[in-house]
Amino acid sequence: MNPEVLDVAVIGAGVGGIAAGAMLRDLGASFAIFDKGTTVGGTWRDNTYPGCACDVPSHLYSLSFAQNPEWSRSYPAQPEIESYLERVTDELGLRPRIHFGVEILAIRWEDQTLLWDIEFRDGTHRSARSVIMATGPLSRPSLPAIEGIETFAGTMFHSARWDHEHDLCGERVAVIGTGASAVQFVPEIAPVVEHLTVFQRSAPWVLPRDDRPAPPWRQRLYRRVPFLQRLHRWRVYARQELLAVAFIGRGRAAAAVSERIRTEVRAQIDAAISDPELRAACLPDYEPGCKRLLIANSWYSTLARPDVDLCTRPIRAITPTGVRTADGDEIEVDTIILGTGFSASDYPGPLRITGRAGLELADRWRTGAATDLGISVDGFPNLYLLAGPSTGLGHNSIIFMIEAQLHHIRGALVHQRRHGLRATTVRSDRVGAFYEEIQRRLGRTVWTTGCSSWYRSAAGQVDTLWPGTTVEYWWRTRRFRPDRHEVVEPDSGPVAAGR
Ligand code: NAP
Repeated sequence: MNPEVLDVAVIGAGVGGIAAGAMLRDLGASFAIFDKGTTVGGTWRDNTYPGCACDVPSHLYSLSFAQNPEWSRSYPAQPEIESYLERVTDELGLRPRIHFGVEILAIRWEDQTLLWDIEFRDGTHRSARSVIMATGPLSRPSLPAIEGIETFAGTMFHSARWDHEHDLCGERVAVIGTGASAVQFVPEIAPVVEHLTVFQRSAPWVLPRDDRPAPPWRQRLYRRVPFLQRLHRWRVYARQELLAVAFIGRGRAAAAVSERIRTEVRAQIDAAISDPELRAACLPDYEPGCKRLLIANSWYSTLARPDVDLCTRPIRAITPTGVRTADGDEIEVDTIILGTGFSASDYPGPLRITGRAGLELADRWRTGAATDLGISVDGFPNLYLLAGPSTGLGHNSIIFMIEAQLHHIRGALVHQRRHGLRATTVRSDRVGAFYEEIQRRLGRTVWTTGCSSWYRSAAGQVDTLWPGTTVEYWWRTRRFRPDRHEVVEPDSGPVAAGR
């Protein structure tokens, strides 16, 4: 690989990596984007299960500077989103900057050179002044620790690694999990398989999805008058943002939204299901929004099919031939599909990140993933996180957050350039104050009302989510604040020779 020192290395070529590339290109920085896959798209490349689509309308779930008048419907399917990201990559001229098929094992801050050393799986290294982590929170499928899982003799795969070679036609299939992915693929596979058993640990709140095809006249209109598309985008944004009321407060407005969701979901269940036992099993026993609210149109009607069983008995083990429940019953199946989600809250993930004086990020975050604005960590100079801790959302587009973060990072890079600084690090007191504020505010949100979800870490605290509106986040990230950062000078030790 080219030994030239990069201004910025971007890790990941999903939405965040592409948006970072656009920002760095405009800035005239020397940069490279590294991704272990073979194409761009991140989670939109990896999740190809039947029915995969975004639960935020695409006129909003898209980059503000690369609007697409051609969206075929309100909630386009995964292939359309992936093609959009491919096209944007080409239009921005980013492809030559992306190194595919390269896995980064570790990044290490060098106190003498003030550079990040990036170590690749093939043993090579590269140096960069700054690193932007765009690895995404939903990139690592979570495999359940169920006894005997390795003994299953049939076919088993995770929804994020769908086996398209495997024909489910006429098979007995078990699905484990009833989250955002399962509610999308279960209705797609139910008509194909011979029998489907859905294992539900906790019932999701599922609202209808207002998904309509885009009439050709509207696509033409948006092509000719982009302003009208922007207007529509802002309308969708405002509607989504209003949902925050239900999540981030516990006042009368939150109670009213929560009651509306309960009424709507009950009506959906009653309309689709006649069996009182199944109806009761579909009704969640926790606050709407505590786990992610789901939207799907045929979830409840699929569970009501005669060839679909909803099994709420806990799973005790997986055997060579099927799934054994806690009461000792064994349900024999040919295929098991794991809709068990992602390891989204075990920060910092498998990539080893070593900061100043050999400080490991995993150690720094042992008691909680503390950052400033979800972007910077003290002791890790010139390291910037996208969609990092404390910035996930339950109600709006994460791309909005990513763009706000990139605007802030751009401010940091411009500040360094303007003042001839080689490295800065956020002050520890800022990080402490921000984390303390986030945890305090999270205590008043729906996410801490007592359910378990991927929002929570193994230790129980919510390190994933932003407890405010996206407007507030935009406001707080709109300027890089030099007074909250310290200049980092090279260590007095000898400058490492070689690389
Ligand atoms: P998820 O929402 O975390 O759901 C995982 C499901 O697996 C839950 O029902 C969970 O039960 C169950 N589960 C996990 N371990 C289990 C075990 N050992 N035994 C039995 N059940 C188990 O995962 P996901 O559906 O893949 O979605 C993850 C996130 O991806 C979403 O929240 C969303 O942010 C994103 N996503 C988005 C879209 C979209 O449209 N934008 C689509 C798909 C995914 P419990 O609830 O009881 O823990």
